[in-house]
Amino acid sequence: MTTTVGLAATDDIEFGVRLLAATPTHEGRDRELLRHWATVATEFGARLAPAPSRARVVERDGGLEHGLLARYTSRPATVELYTDTVARAEALVDENGWRHWYPAGSVRAAALAHEAVHEQLHHGTAKAALKEALGHVVLRLGRRRLYGHVAGAEEIAAHAHARTACGLGRSPLLLTAALATAGAHHTTAPHAHGREK
Ligand SMILES: [Zn+2]
Repeated sequence: MTTTVGLAATDDIEFGVRLLAATPTHEGRDRELLRHWATVATEFGARLAPAPSRARVVERDGGLEHGLLARYTSRPATVELYTDTVARAEALVDENGWRHWYPAGSVRAAALAHEAVHEQLHHGTAKAALKEALGHVVLRLGRRRLYGHVAGAEEIAAHAHARTACGLGRSPLLLTAALATAGAHHTTAPHAHGREK
């Protein structure tokens, strides 16, 4: 498992940088800026107070086929959890000897904690707070600053929150990268989790 050994040696912030670099709108952006945003989003997610989820959890199959682990949809508030991908991720934890980082059952728990962040950012004021923390100023009007959206930052924050909330030794980003490596036909966009539709 040379490839996943290499993955484990990559730190969590670097995974965040890679996620941003692979996200449209960030092509050609300075690597240091991406690293700054990845760091800010990680700290934001780790510090974010958990909010109770109102979403219904629906367990589904067919996640591996579509490269999905879990997905939050807002109307109605629903978390789709792809049980085949969860099982594959749990198996990868064992295959790679990562159980001390991801205790049994933590993939499901982390997925739910992750999606709860999307839910919280969708409904609450945390989204504006994340934007302000990232400090991507797109317009200045006198003393007023307008902060732009940083694509991918919410995703990094959700992973960081899941790591803290579930007491994981490493970010679920490592596991996401391992899933993408294991599914060799997925050569781009190593996101085992779906965006909100
Ligand atoms: Zn997500």
